[in-house]
Amino acid sequence: MSVIACGHHIAGRWETTGSREIRRANPAATAETVSVAPEGTADDARRAVDGAVAAAESWRRVIAPERGKIVLRAARILEDRLEEVAALLTREQGKLLVEARAEVRRAIDIMEYSAGLGRRLGGQTLPAEVPGVFCFTQRQPAGPMALLTPWNFPVAIPCWKIAPALVCGDTVVLKPSPLTPALSVRVVEIFLEAGLPPGVLGLVHGGAEVGTALVDDRRIAGISFTGSTKVGMAIHAAASRRMARTQLEMGGKNPQVVLADADLGPAVEACISAAFGSTGQRCTATSRAIVEKSVAHEFTDRLAERAAALRVGRGDEPDVDMGPVVDENRLAEVDAFVERAREGGASIVVGGGRPKSLDGGHFYEATLVKARPEHEIAREEVFGPVLSVIEAEDFDRALAIANSVDYGLCASVFTRDVGRALRFVDRIEAGMIHVNRPGLGGFAHFPFGGLKHSSFGAREVGEDTLAFFTDLKSVYINQA
Ligand code: NAD
Repeated sequence: MSVIACGHHIAGRWETTGSREIRRANPAATAETVSVAPEGTADDARRAVDGAVAAAESWRRVIAPERGKIVLRAARILEDRLEEVAALLTREQGKLLVEARAEVRRAIDIMEYSAGLGRRLGGQTLPAEVPGVFCFTQRQPAGPMALLTPWNFPVAIPCWKIAPALVCGDTVVLKPSPLTPALSVRVVEIFLEAGLPPGVLGLVHGGAEVGTALVDDRRIAGISFTGSTKVGMAIHAAASRRMARTQLEMGGKNPQVVLADADLGPAVEACISAAFGSTGQRCTATSRAIVEKSVAHEFTDRLAERAAALRVGRGDEPDVDMGPVVDENRLAEVDAFVERAREGGASIVVGGGRPKSLDGGHFYEATLVKARPEHEIAREEVFGPVLSVIEAEDFDRALAIANSVDYGLCASVFTRDVGRALRFVDRIEAGMIHVNRPGLGGFAHFPFGGLKHSSFGAREVGEDTLAFFTDLKSVYINQA
């Protein structure tokens, strides 16, 4: 297959050359180069911001329903190209083709939803405190914005930031993960083809140098970031020094609590799909099964049987249940977590290494670890196909263990008891909660985000994201 030559998109022009280069290999077949991109510099970031600033005034004058129509057109183009983009997603990022299709579909759904916001970008009219004054609130573009995105959802996450930002009237510069340059080029191409004027959407490839330059650029009004908690915190600290706003979606250590009265069959299946889907490389992945003691043995046995049966392999091959880890660094990190767990006294029930029969890619076995709440593997984000099973005496203890980590993205509970389900919803420290279903993200029109060290700032997706991408004015008109 041919190597995809990627470019920056700066001030309306594609630029494919640079002094340094990013080469991206297929994670399932590392001998195959998928894409080559120039590695951006701080100067490239500055020039992209120049473009976004120059385009800002004319873009904010395009009326909001019209901006929404461009985003809707982009959604239709992406829909037409769904199979092609999904195939590239499998090739460059590694996920299963079925997962890739679902990700592209999610991007389309969110773009459709965001397009509609162009007709609802209103404020409020409220009663006056004194006679003869008409008062209302009004939203206006806050941009230019920097969008910094990770590699695990390299189509959906850029789309769910770009679409609302554009509808709100902001110009944007996207800096995607250096692990997925070709996918970000496809995303930008699709928005441009839909009719965006030059400079409204910029793209600069690269890593921390480009990211830092965007965060530090005083002309960038806000940074919408998705990635690790460590980087998110550093970005927030830097942005706050110049009073720039941040919207941060970060790591997770998401629990699935299984109570003794639960229907264990669906609870096991939910755990398998939420822990090992996308090779566990989802911020929303379930990485802790916290199980009430009286059913822990049976639940773990059933889980182990299912995890051991998962077939690992290339995402474009049929009958494969789990694709590769994204690159050699993440693979080494996952393996190091498991090794430290072993040394620290946790027991590896299933997996715990690279599959013997597979080479040529960054494959890792679906891994089940029996851990205690204090083990590192039960507290820190592994971001790979590793699930810790933890026993809890009763419901209250399960809840306490679930809440004992720094993260609070999503959570699920399996129980037939409505009262305990509602108590869980009330007490769990998580932003997205599921009852008797896999504890993943949510629907395309629902706020997405968490509590504690998982998220910061206005929620993404749903109407709440308007609070990030717009400024709000309160207006008082004397009618006398
Ligand atoms: P990462 O933090 O390493 O990188 C994220 C982005 O920030 C990339 O574009 C990266 O190049 C850039 N970056 C890195 N250092 C930077 C710096 N110093 N200044 C500015 N930008 C910088 O994360 P990743 O490995 O790409 O993604 C995996 C992480 O993302 C996991 O922790 C996962 O939980 C998280 N994630 C969270 C959500 C969510 O919605 N909460 C969704 C997906 C992924």
